[in-house]
Amino acid sequence: MHVAAFTKPGRFWRGNLHTHSTRSDGRLPPEAVAAFYKDAGYDFLALTDHFWDCYGYPVTDTRPLRSKGFTTLFGAEIHAPITAKSYDWHVVAVGLPLDFAPWTEGETMQAMTRRAAAAGAFLGIAHPQWYGLTVEDALSLPEAHAVEIYNHSCAVECDRGDGLVVLEDALARGRRLNAYAADDAHFASPDAGGGWVMVKADALEPEPLLEALKRGEFYSSQGPQIHDICIEGDEAVVACSLASAVVAVGAGIGSRLVHGRDLTRATVSLEGCEGSYVRITVADDKGRRAWSNPIWREG
Ligand SMILES: [Zn+2]
Ligand SMILES: [Zn+2]
Repeated sequence: MHVAAFTKPGRFWRGNLHTHSTRSDGRLPPEAVAAFYKDAGYDFLALTDHFWDCYGYPVTDTRPLRSKGFTTLFGAEIHAPITAKSYDWHVVAVGLPLDFAPWTEGETMQAMTRRAAAAGAFLGIAHPQWYGLTVEDALSLPEAHAVEIYNHSCAVECDRGDGLVVLEDALARGRRLNAYAADDAHFASPDAGGGWVMVKADALEPEPLLEALKRGEFYSSQGPQIHDICIEGDEAVVACSLASAVVAVGAGIGSRLVHGRDLTRATVSLEGCEGSYVRITVADDKGRRAWSNPIWREG
């Protein structure tokens, strides 16, 4: 069984889906943010400033920031009351229209994500570990496409970068969510350039990138590249950039590891990987990881 992200035509484009600027609480103006990512070798950027009243509900028109070899998606980090632990929700919405209507009194995050999805957005459950989001919270947003498996700003600033608990608990309950890494950069600390997505699309244009994101045709990374994943019976065959570990992670406690030096190809047994999906993690000798989306082995 081949995995669509690796077999579809096109190439992988590197992008950051979660970024702040002076349109909300980031330190750099949008132009400087785009310049940072372009210079760092990214192909695209979504500016996702806080969609709060105090910032004027910004969905920034980033078309002027596009240039040869660099594009942008419109977005915002949308908020509404209220999570199980009584915080305002944080949801990354990429692919919003510029005239996306502000939150109004009484609107729940469930209602807000419904209208963001109806407007065409990719919806990511941001930094669950940072604010103690529960799996019930995550399951209450059926329109969400993915959970932030890694948030670089939260990792740097408060050691809460990981999103695995909520993601895996939701997966175990049969909710098919993908996983994306992002910076959530505010540029007040070294929080940019640490986690990104590699999206497979046949052109570096907003629409194909957005559609591929919604279909889950991407993987996430802090450095390593995944070139191919193929599930053959009870084995996963993985091709990657130089790695020291390739891990297959199933539901429950099942996982299998191939480790070595400078691996570029690994055949990982899936025996003991319980459940109907498997995820592949590739790690390099600096401990940086790349993560596949969950690969569903049934239906
Ligand atoms: Zn946030
Ligand atoms: Zn944010």
